[in-house]
Amino acid sequence: MNTEVVTINQDNIDHGAIKRAGEIIRRGGLVAFPTETVYGLGGDALNPESSQKIYSAKGRPSDNPLIVHISKLDDLYKIAEEIPEDALKLSEAYWPGPLTMIFKKKPIVPKETTGGLETVAVRMPSDKTARALIEASGGFIAAPSANISGRPSPTSAKFVCEDMCGRIDMIIDGGDSEVGLESTIVDFSEGKPVILRPGFISAEMIQSVLGVYVGTDPALKHEGDRPKAPGMKYRHYAPKGELTVIYGASDRVVEKINSLVSEDIRNGYSVGIIASSENAKKYREGTVKPVGSAGNNEETAHSLFRVLREFDDENTEKIYSEAFDEKGVGAAIMNRLLKAAGHKIIDLTKEDL
Ligand code: AMP
Ligand code: MG
Repeated sequence: MNTEVVTINQDNIDHGAIKRAGEIIRRGGLVAFPTETVYGLGGDALNPESSQKIYSAKGRPSDNPLIVHISKLDDLYKIAEEIPEDALKLSEAYWPGPLTMIFKKKPIVPKETTGGLETVAVRMPSDKTARALIEASGGFIAAPSANISGRPSPTSAKFVCEDMCGRIDMIIDGGDSEVGLESTIVDFSEGKPVILRPGFISAEMIQSVLGVYVGTDPALKHEGDRPKAPGMKYRHYAPKGELTVIYGASDRVVEKINSLVSEDIRNGYSVGIIASSENAKKYREGTVKPVGSAGNNEETAHSLFRVLREFDDENTEKIYSEAFDEKGVGAAIMNRLLKAAGHKIIDLTKEDL
């Protein structure tokens, strides 16, 4: 299959190109498109065959449901039931934006889209190209991240093409993704809201709107437990190289990574380091990739997946990453980083005991 790549600037939208992309989706084809989180792989959410095509293009297990993207609140009522007041409060505060909410589904949403579940995940993205495409496609786009299953989510059209060129009809290039991590997922299908996947909209931001404590699915911290978002059980975001995360006081982490890197290099490995910009110059060997200033988690979120993919492109065999502060969006960064590392960590705070 020939994949057409079209550039669209969200501040000056080419409506002719959007119309063509919308027609591809209406006909049952697939279009990858930019959103503020990461690039999505879009098909008609109400067409079971489109969802099946998404699973096969990604190599994604079919029990892992897709998020349905809408462009206006009215459309939420067409696909979801029992929408609680708290969900509407969150939609008012954070939609359009990087927040997904889960509700009981209406029969119009096929089981192929929801991975066999009776619930549906819904998000209204803020990217203007994404919203124009949703409208042009009939209002409901099912879109997981536009990567081959298991690889880091793509934050640019170049990364989408690495995985998807030849497998889908079109890629819309809208530049680098602003947030760089997937949306926060909040489940409302069992009454009380629960965070199933941390994201840019932090627990603190959700609690400040709802005025109550909102918990995170405990299975995210206990390996072996079954998470409520089926996707969270799969190994994810994994670079090809072996990634290890090092916890501890900043200077000791630098010292430890320096000694691990020099041993690996002596043994003939190519080695990469993921560091805060403040620490980057303290590393003596290896390829250092700064991901942002310590304490500026937004910058780190924006860069993390790009850096993991760059290490793949460079065939890096061993990667060491500093651990980042878990406040705010830091919880999402550490969730993705630990999954990418398959939970391989060195905890220097424990070695002190
Ligand atoms: P992705 O679109 O690649 O970011 O993945 C979507 C995530 O949302 C996966 O982790 C899914 O398991 C999760 N998800 C989507 N729909 C549901 C649902 N109805 N119930 C629970 N988790 C869901
Ligand atoms: Mg994904």
